[in-house]
Amino acid sequence: MKILVVGAGVLGLTAAFNLVNDGHDVTIVDKTGPYAQASSRSFAWINANHKLPAEYHRLNRAGITAHEEFQKRFASHGTWFHQHGCIMFDSSEGNATGYDERYAESTELDYPVERIGSDRLRELEPAVDWPTDSGLFFPLEAHLDNEAFGSLIEDFLEDAGVKPEIAEVIRVETKANGATAEFAGGSARAFDQVVIAAGADSGVIAERSEFLLPVADLSQPGPRTHSLLGVTAPTDVALNRIIISDKINVRPRRDGSMFVQIPSVEARTEEGETPELLNEVQAVMETELQSLFGKHILVNQVIFSGRSFPEDGLSIVGYLDDHHRAYSLVTHSGMTMAPILGRLVADEVRGDSSPLLSAFRPSRFTEGIAHDSPTNFIGRQ
Ligand SMILES: Cc1cc2nc3c(=O)[nH]c(=O)nc-3n(C[C@H](O)[C@H](O)[C@H](O)COP(=O)(O)OP(=O)(O)OC[C@H]3O[C@@H](n4cnc5c(N)ncnc54)[C@H](O)[C@@H]3O)c2cc1C
Repeated sequence: MKILVVGAGVLGLTAAFNLVNDGHDVTIVDKTGPYAQASSRSFAWINANHKLPAEYHRLNRAGITAHEEFQKRFASHGTWFHQHGCIMFDSSEGNATGYDERYAESTELDYPVERIGSDRLRELEPAVDWPTDSGLFFPLEAHLDNEAFGSLIEDFLEDAGVKPEIAEVIRVETKANGATAEFAGGSARAFDQVVIAAGADSGVIAERSEFLLPVADLSQPGPRTHSLLGVTAPTDVALNRIIISDKINVRPRRDGSMFVQIPSVEARTEEGETPELLNEVQAVMETELQSLFGKHILVNQVIFSGRSFPEDGLSIVGYLDDHHRAYSLVTHSGMTMAPILGRLVADEVRGDSSPLLSAFRPSRFTEGIAHDSPTNFIGRQ
């Protein structure tokens, strides 16, 4: 089949990769270039932690497994998936209740979790000056070198003769026998199917095409749709894994730098992006890093980063039209789920219907749009 993938973020690329492997004639376009939006500014914690309801947890869990398999299958190309687990701690008084709840929820879902004390905290991360003597450890979780992962898939596509074209899709029209994509500049091209994986912009394309695909509007910033992501200078601090807490989220990057988020400043995204805000947040990040590692770590950049966020917080995956010619591939937590969703999209284009996706069809919105509200619990990405 002749298939157009709109958007070369992590989801468009993994879908294109699987479609190419299945022998389709694939075109992938991006209005700016590969990895132009959320995928390049992602904390990229690979997890299924507190991803509720259970169907959503299962899909994220399948994402972790698919990353494991992808890393094993292509190990000769390097390492981008670092499955060293995640430490979660809450430094507030009354943390015991939070730990109990998360432990019970994870155990109920059969999601591996360990309660840990100060010895284990020190053993796992000796470089940290732990402000607590208790935490939870999630051994299945990982951090992803998101750009390396994207580049690898781009390389595989290029080897197969597919290179993302710079082109902006304005709208898609479907009929029983195919789909036509209209591009900025006025040209139109015919395909058998179109996969819309344009992240936060997918809703705009859908609206122009008269499909129902409710994705949060990034022009109204806030903690639900935006995050302040810090990038430190390379440092000699030996951090091995992700730490998620009420004070700071931090993870290592392959060049020795770290990604940082500060839960207490996320609400300030409502103020919109200003140089003053970024400077203030940079100072807060450096203070929290100093207290966690007992040394000054320079934050080089704070990125005001927009998420691709379905209005109800859950993935929107499946056909948008009665002719089954336009397919939606939009989700938050796309770093976690990209390898499984890319595979499932290709399976469904071939005619399968995956039970893993049945709770995430676009048709659920015909009953009305439920809005996800921000949670103040630690760590859900
Ligand atoms: C700060 C932050 C932290 C995050 N942390 C995590 C995490 O810890 N774990 C996790 O799993 N996920 C996380 N995410 C979410 C994850 O990064 C995203 O879900 C994922 O990157 C979405 O990928 P995508 O391909 O759908 O969208 P994008 O990466 O946004 O790609 C969409 C692409 O479509 C292109 N495009 C848009 N409109 C058009 C058009 N009209 N025509 C052609 N091309 C178009 C854009 O240029 C862009 O390149 C985080 C996101 C953010 C912002």
